[in-house]
Amino acid sequence: MNKHHLAAALAGVLLFAEFSCARNPITGRKQLALVSESQVQGMALTEYKKFLTTNPVAPATNANAIMVNRVGRRIADAITKYYGEHGAADVLSGYNWEFNLVESKEVNAWCMPGGKVVVYTGLLPVTQNETALAIVLGHEITHAVAGHGREKMSNQLLAQGIQVAGDVALGNNPNTVNIFNQVYAPTAQVGVLLPYSRKYEYEADHYGLIFAAMAGYDPREAVPFWKRMAALGGEKPPVLLSDHPADEDRIAKLEALMPEALTYYKH
Ligand SMILES: [Zn+2]
Repeated sequence: MNKHHLAAALAGVLLFAEFSCARNPITGRKQLALVSESQVQGMALTEYKKFLTTNPVAPATNANAIMVNRVGRRIADAITKYYGEHGAADVLSGYNWEFNLVESKEVNAWCMPGGKVVVYTGLLPVTQNETALAIVLGHEITHAVAGHGREKMSNQLLAQGIQVAGDVALGNNPNTVNIFNQVYAPTAQVGVLLPYSRKYEYEADHYGLIFAAMAGYDPREAVPFWKRMAALGGEKPPVLLSDHPADEDRIAKLEALMPEALTYYKH
């Protein structure tokens, strides 16, 4: 490839990227979208099924599993209502909510695109109560419905110069599957303990509080909950320290968001 061809190819990629930006109807922020929501939902479904068959899922009759399901449904209902009221119901098309509790010492929970949620039993001693669990699920589910993983995946695809054309079956492309797994793999790489960048974390805290409040849970529980998370200290993986809102900073921002969140809380 000569210089001119290279320049033309680069310009093509940048132009493609520019046209592949979409304004998020809820946050108002422009996001790169090189992969479609249905593509990531398809990959998520495959990974979620694989995860559930290779990890010890608590039986549906387990009292904590019942609680996880109850909280998850209430948060999902609140999100459906909020998105509907904001003319963004189509964002949730393809969502088929599932909530599972998995036996694991890990202090974690996550939600994949399409509404596939897992809570680890190791989180429950830190949440201590149903309201704090609602705070966590509000936060984690916001990452999914706000398209954070998809945006991060798109940014990585662009950085690696991988062109994703139209309806290419991403699941058959080892490069894209690899990037999907980096962003979503249900390992220590995702979830409460290994957050996204500050921008995403702030959005997840902001809308997560609103959704928890709409679901009937007191958003003020977020402050003691995140203080308990902060107190875990050394148990947190070191990677957390690099790109994570400092705990005090997060608490201050949560306090600032509280008056708005409380307007959604009817008790
Ligand atoms: Zn987060």
